[in-house]
Amino acid sequence: MKIIMLGAPGAGKGTQAKLIAEKYNIPHISTGDIFRANIKNGTELGKKAKTYMDKGELVPDELVVDLVVDRVAKDDAKNGYVLDGFPRTIPQAEALDAALAKINDKVDYAIDVDVPDENIINRMSGRRACVACGGTYHIVNVPPKKEGICDACGGELILRDDDKPETVKKRLDVYHEQTQPLIDYYTEKGILKTVDGTVDMNDVFAAIVGILG
Ligand code: ADP
Ligand code: AMP
Repeated sequence: MKIIMLGAPGAGKGTQAKLIAEKYNIPHISTGDIFRANIKNGTELGKKAKTYMDKGELVPDELVVDLVVDRVAKDDAKNGYVLDGFPRTIPQAEALDAALAKINDKVDYAIDVDVPDENIINRMSGRRACVACGGTYHIVNVPPKKEGICDACGGELILRDDDKPETVKKRLDVYHEQTQPLIDYYTEKGILKTVDGTVDMNDVFAAIVGILG
C-alpha cells in the first residue's frame, strides 16, 4: 500500500502517518524528519535545507526528489510506505509518478487531512517535537506523560524554530500557493480521499482506517 499524506502544515499528517505505519507495518517516510536529521548531523544537505526551512519556504525540488526516489526504492519499502510531507509541489508529484511508472507501480491513496487555517496557528504554537526521535505532541491536545520529555524515547521536547507564529503564517501561504494544487492533481487521478482533521486524532485515524480497510 503506497500512501501520500496531504494537508496544511500542522494538519496532523505526521501524527496519522505514524499510526498508519504501525498498523499496516510499512515505513513512515517524512521529508521534514529527513531534513531535520541532516541538520542535526551537520551534513551539506542539512545546511542547504535549513536556509529554506528557517524562512518557512520549501526546499527546492532538486534537493528533495532524488532523496525520496532513492528512499522508496529501499528494501523495507517493497510492500508500501506512507509519505508524509512529500510531494509538496506538482513537479514533485510528477517526478514520483514517473519514477513509479518506470517500475510499473503507482500511488494507491492520497489522503488529505483537512484543517482550516484558523486552527493551524494554535496547533503549531502548541506542537512539541522530540529532538531524538521526531515524535510529536501538543501541550494541550496530545500532552506527553511528563512535561518536556518524549513518552516514546525519553528525548527532549522542543518548539520547532519554524513553528513560531511568523514562520507559520509564511508556511501557510506557501502551502496554499504550491501544495494545495495537489488536491486537484490527485482528484483527477481518482485517488484523493479527504478526512476531517479537526476531530480527535483517534477519530481521524478511524476515518483513515475506514478508507484503507
Ligand atoms: P503535520 O505533520 O501535518 O505538520 P503534526 O502531526 O505534527 O502535523 O500535528 C501538528 C500538531 O497538532 C501536533 O502538536 C499534534 O500533536 C497536534 N495534533 C495532531 N492531530 C491532532 C488532532 N486530531 N487534534 C488536535 N491536535 C492534533
Ligand atoms: P514538515 O516537517 O513536513 O513540516 O517540513 C518542514 C520543512 O521542511 C518545510 O517547511 C520545508 O521547508 C521542508 N520540506 C519538507 N518536505 C519538503 C518537500 N517535499 N519539498 C520541499 N520542502 C520540504
